[in-house]
Amino acid sequence: MANVFLVGAGPGDPGMLTLRAKEIIESCDVMIYDYLANAEFLKWCKPDCEILYVGKKGGDHTLPQDQINGLIVEKAKSGKVICRLKGGDPYVFGRGGEEGEELVEAGIDFEVVPGITAGVAAAAYAGIPVTHRDHTTSVCFITGHEDPTKSESGHNWAVYGQSTSTLVFYMGVGNLPMIAKNLMDNGRAADTPVALVRWGTRCNQTSFVSDLEHVAEEAEARQWKAPSIIIVGGVCSLHDKLGWFEKKPMLGRGVIVTRAREQASGLVGVLREQGACVREFPTISVEPLDDYAEVETAILQLARYQWVVFTSVNGVKHFWQQLRAIGLDARIFGGMQIAAIGPATADELRARGIEPDFIPEKYVAEHVVKGLLERGIAGSDVLIPRAKVAREVLPRELKAAGCKVTVLPVYETRLGQASGDEIMEALGAGDIRYVTFTSSSTVENFFELVPADAFKNYPDVKIASIGPVTSDTVRKFGLTPAIEPEDYTIPGLVDALIQDATAAK
Ligand code: SAH
Repeated sequence: MANVFLVGAGPGDPGMLTLRAKEIIESCDVMIYDYLANAEFLKWCKPDCEILYVGKKGGDHTLPQDQINGLIVEKAKSGKVICRLKGGDPYVFGRGGEEGEELVEAGIDFEVVPGITAGVAAAAYAGIPVTHRDHTTSVCFITGHEDPTKSESGHNWAVYGQSTSTLVFYMGVGNLPMIAKNLMDNGRAADTPVALVRWGTRCNQTSFVSDLEHVAEEAEARQWKAPSIIIVGGVCSLHDKLGWFEKKPMLGRGVIVTRAREQASGLVGVLREQGACVREFPTISVEPLDDYAEVETAILQLARYQWVVFTSVNGVKHFWQQLRAIGLDARIFGGMQIAAIGPATADELRARGIEPDFIPEKYVAEHVVKGLLERGIAGSDVLIPRAKVAREVLPRELKAAGCKVTVLPVYETRLGQASGDEIMEALGAGDIRYVTFTSSSTVENFFELVPADAFKNYPDVKIASIGPVTSDTVRKFGLTPAIEPEDYTIPGLVDALIQDATAAK
């Protein structure tokens, strides 16, 4: 079996990676990747995988190609599984062919995992089908940047100019005036539509359509840069009609997510779906306790409680872990009343076969207490499994209503892995529009990493808080949340962000 894989990473959108490519990323011992291969994929590498970046961005080559070839061969000889990850498809202007030849010459077996090439994907994300019966019968992939050491050009401009083929140029931004001129000089009409798509399929995709006569001037005026695909032909006229990706409400908006990594995926996923450029900086991490003796005792004496109030998804998860650890399951709750604070907590219970008896309409402690009292909780024995450090309002108010309350820590939150320097760097880069906070502890920890004063320098950055309690914590640091949903949930927060982004367009 081959131990070297030339793998296409697709055009950038993580969803455009093939299943086979993901399998190889997950299992390789050495990862050798390029500038255009989305670095996000590296999170799938094994923890002990050796990760090597070999760059290549315009003129700024981290390693020249012959050294890259040498490196692949050298690593391959060790017998380890090598993933050579390249943007798009490895054999479309990726020099994958050369790397393959080098491997054959060294007697090393390899396999190829094709990827979705930018010329097709970036076009499709910009509303341009590369072929269309009304416009063309063929499509041609062309390099816009020929090997400068070649004595004679391989381009046949007469053929390109006279054909009706859709022409897709890779690496062509620097040569755009020359490309447009050659095509017009060789017969393509000056009003032939031309599209440029930059960072296609990524959250920072941008594009515009012009025509052969004006495209170079327009690109110059926009200070257009690589990496961009240039598409020439009638199909580009469909850009407005068929464009879909750039219509996403949050496209290109940088959003910082401060939730714990284990919990962030829901929020991150929905924001990405809306086009946002999400940066995860987990300011808290959810950790198990050092000692679960107290939890075990409480579980064994569960029958004495009339109510169990779960205040978070983590509360449910960690409580259940202990329940299972001592060989018990949902039956232990018997006829007890169960409350879930918030829809996600309720879903977590449902997944374990429990339909909560009470889910408050609003998710702040004050409302919760009111609802519970209406359900007749007053005077009951109540167990509240939750984080080690949490707000005291709920237990206090329930006690005031004559309940016998036991607060049971089942997990704790600690400062997450986010780095203050990296957050400052992201803010400084100027593309962050929103910083989201989903609990008071995300706020407290964030401002332990980043001075609140720093926000003065970024007046365009808005703080989005999940609800009034979190907002109060933000105000403690002298800042004011610009966004707070009416519904204090993650979907509520996302809706509020979309509304704000749409209004700002
Ligand atoms: N093997 C790659 C192409 C590598 S050549 C593939 O199949 O897609 C590098 C060129 O590809 C860039 O200069 C640019 O023209 C194009 N390219 C790669 N990714 C792109 C993207 N996401 N958006 C626009 N162009 C891209």
